[in-house]
Amino acid sequence: EGTPASDAYPRKILEYMEGFLISKTVFSSCELGVFDVLLAAERPLSAEEISQEIGASLDGTQRLLAACTGLQLLNTHQDNGQVLYSNTEQASVYLTRSSPVSLYQSIQYSSRTIYLCWHYLTDAVREGRNQYEKAFGVSSNDLFQALYRSDEEMVKFMQLMNSIWNICGKDVVTAFDLLPFNIICDLGGCSGALAKQCTSAYPECTVTIFDLPKVVYTSREHFVTEANQRISFHEGDFFKDPLPDADLYILARILHDWTDERCIELLSKVYKVCKPGGAVLLVEALLHEDGSGPVTVQLYSLNMLVQTEGRERTAAQYASLLAAAGFTGIQHRLTGKIYDAVLGHKET
Ligand code: SAM
Repeated sequence: EGTPASDAYPRKILEYMEGFLISKTVFSSCELGVFDVLLAAERPLSAEEISQEIGASLDGTQRLLAACTGLQLLNTHQDNGQVLYSNTEQASVYLTRSSPVSLYQSIQYSSRTIYLCWHYLTDAVREGRNQYEKAFGVSSNDLFQALYRSDEEMVKFMQLMNSIWNICGKDVVTAFDLLPFNIICDLGGCSGALAKQCTSAYPECTVTIFDLPKVVYTSREHFVTEANQRISFHEGDFFKDPLPDADLYILARILHDWTDERCIELLSKVYKVCKPGGAVLLVEALLHEDGSGPVTVQLYSLNMLVQTEGRERTAAQYASLLAAAGFTGIQHRLTGKIYDAVLGHKET
C-alpha cells in the first residue's frame, strides 16, 4: 500500500521518450496555420471550420486540436453540444505569425532544419562533428556557406536569430551599464534585432552591424528600416577583413559557433582594433561552472555539435578566451532568461 517507489513508474523517461511528439504537434499546428486562423476569426471556431480554413482533413484536424488543447495551447468552449476552439493567451502572443513577439519563424527553423540535423545526433556524437553532409548533402568546410546554402535558408536563419531578441534582448543589453560606450559595433549582428535593443536602451549610441555581405544586404532590405538613423552596416568577413573602430564590440552568439582557437583569433583581432578604455560584450547562454546545467544550455551545446564547430561554455571558459586575447576586468551577469552577458575591458 501507499505510493509506489518512484522507480516503479518511469514518468520522466516516458516523457523524454515522447518529447518529440510534443515538438512536432506544435510545429505542424503552426505550419498549418491553426493559431493564425483562430486569431483572424476573432471568435471560437469548430473543428469543421478550422479544417476548412487550413485545408486539412476533418479527422486529422480534430486530433490535432485535441492535442493542442491537452498541451494548453487552445481553450475549448461548449456550444450547444458542439466543441469550439480558441487560442490561449500564450498561443496568440507567441504562435501566430503576425505577433510582434512571434516565435513562428523560430518554430519553422526548428521544424525544417534543426529537427532534420538532430536525426543524426548519434552520428554527431560518434564523429564529434556537425551533420550537414548527411542531413542536407552540403559540405560544411565553410560553416556559414553550409548554413546559408540557399537564400531561403539564410532568411530563415536570420528570422530565427531575430525573434529571440524581442523576448530577451533588453535584459542582455542592460545586464551591464553600456552608457559609457557610444560607438558600438555588433560583430555578426545579423538582422539587427540586438542593435535595435541597444539604440532603444541607450539613446546616445550608434551601432554598426558587421556581417557577411549577403546578410547585410538582406538585413538592410528586410529587417532594419531607413527610419533607424543610428544603425548602420559594414560588410565583411570578421576573420579576414579589417574591423570598424568602436568603443564597444558586441559578439552575440558568435563564439558558440567556433572552436577555442578561432575564438581567440577573433577576440585578438577585436582587442587590437578596440580603443583603449573600450570593451567587448559577449552574449551567450552560460553553462553552470560545474557543468550541472541549465539543461537548456546543455542541450544547446549538443545542438552546436550537430550544427556548428563550437560549443556552449561556462563564464570561466569565456573569461579565459577573453584573457588570452588581452582583455582584463572580466565580469559576467546572469539575466535569468536564456542568454547572459560577459564583459571584458581593454585598459586605457
Ligand atoms: N549576433 C546575432 C544574434 O545573436 O542574433 C547573430 C548570431 S548568428 C549565430 C552568427 C552571425 O555571424 C550570423 O549573422 C553570421 O552571418 C555571422 N557570421 C558568421 N561568420 C562570419 C564572418 N566570417 N564574418 C562576419 N560575420 C559572420
